[in-house]
Amino acid sequence: MTDQFAPPPALGCRSAPVLKQRGQREVFCGLTGIIWLHRKIQDAFFLVVGSRTCAHLLQSAAGVMIFAEPRFGTAILEESDLAGLNDAHAELDRTVNELLTRRPDIRQLFLVGSCPSEVIKLDLSRAAERLTQQFAPKVRVLEYSGSGIETTFTQGEDACLAAMVPVLPASDARELLVVGALPDVVEDQMLSLLEDLGVGPVRVLPARSIDAEMGIGENTVFALSQPFLGETHAALERRGARHLAAPFPFGDEGTTAWLAAIAAEFGTSDETFAQVTDAPRRRARAAIAQASEPLRDKSIFFFPDSQLEVPLARFLTRECGMSALEVGMPYIHDGIHGPDLDLLPQGPQISEGQDVDLQLDRCRAARPDLTVCGLGLANPLEAEGLSTKWAIELVFTPVHFYEQAGDLAALFARPLRRKSILSTSAEVAAE
Ligand code: SF4
Repeated sequence: MTDQFAPPPALGCRSAPVLKQRGQREVFCGLTGIIWLHRKIQDAFFLVVGSRTCAHLLQSAAGVMIFAEPRFGTAILEESDLAGLNDAHAELDRTVNELLTRRPDIRQLFLVGSCPSEVIKLDLSRAAERLTQQFAPKVRVLEYSGSGIETTFTQGEDACLAAMVPVLPASDARELLVVGALPDVVEDQMLSLLEDLGVGPVRVLPARSIDAEMGIGENTVFALSQPFLGETHAALERRGARHLAAPFPFGDEGTTAWLAAIAAEFGTSDETFAQVTDAPRRRARAAIAQASEPLRDKSIFFFPDSQLEVPLARFLTRECGMSALEVGMPYIHDGIHGPDLDLLPQGPQISEGQDVDLQLDRCRAARPDLTVCGLGLANPLEAEGLSTKWAIELVFTPVHFYEQAGDLAALFARPLRRKSILSTSAEVAAE
């Protein structure tokens, strides 16, 4: 493949000065990832070792569980556990034994750490080893932390996938591994595009079941579909796999650049690439043009939350006509976010980490047309007359690849459209 499909260069932000902030952070709990991971990994069970607060968070965030046998639950740490009076390991073993006896369909069990289990320093890695020995080969027991003390909500998925990498079998096969949990319908679209490009064999992490898992080794190349997988990226490199760095597949440009990086690695010809992508590109461009009408010439400010901020800012500025004022990321990883930063036109303040009060001051001074932030900041900012978009919606909505590009633009257009309707109605009422 030649580079004729590469997006036109911008005077990008990769070497722009980064405002690093280490103050109070407004973050959301990493347990949230269970809500989409339990749908994706169909033979897994997520057992949160936490308090009643953790149980309430999960149950209210995932109201679906009343309709089916749930695939996540909470082993409640009582006050006596927190005071160190009980042997929490014995309690945990008893709960896991009951669960696995009652649920023979479970093939993978994730023990998920929480703030309370971290506070009492409950060693879940020891528990996972012990329980794996007890239940192997039928059930694999892994552990990761979803604690919300210091993490952003997307780090839960990263920690979960990173925990899976060391136990994948070794393989010398030359394969592409696509890493990141996507809705099944979006994953199927992606697999079909890759197949048409002649790329294969292709595996995905997380696989839908333990039987579909892949081996890994020095001939594995991997592409990330989500920009918040820094720990998983490091774990895969430790296993010898090679990362194909590319912009993330949001919008027409991002999807094309992401596919082009893979196609170049697998020797796809320019003709085949054009044949496969021309029609979906045209559809994506038309859908974006229609959905992004309210976004043209509007400004946007990103608080650090989902870790999708840089790729989304690239999409909104280059394909939807917006201007970015500040693009805040919880963490910036050059190897992962560099290709998107290269394409993000110069101008916005790039910030990493957070000192929330100072950032709120900057946001109020800038008066952006749209602010992307977490749930805790959205209501106060709306009360001050600023339009907001909840970052968390972006991981619950299918937004990747060509067919979802219009929906992605529409997600950002909706709050602006609502504001304009409300102000028109107010003007009419005042007349
Ligand atoms: S893990 Fe921490 S932040 Fe998350 S629900 Fe439990 S106590 Fe709250």
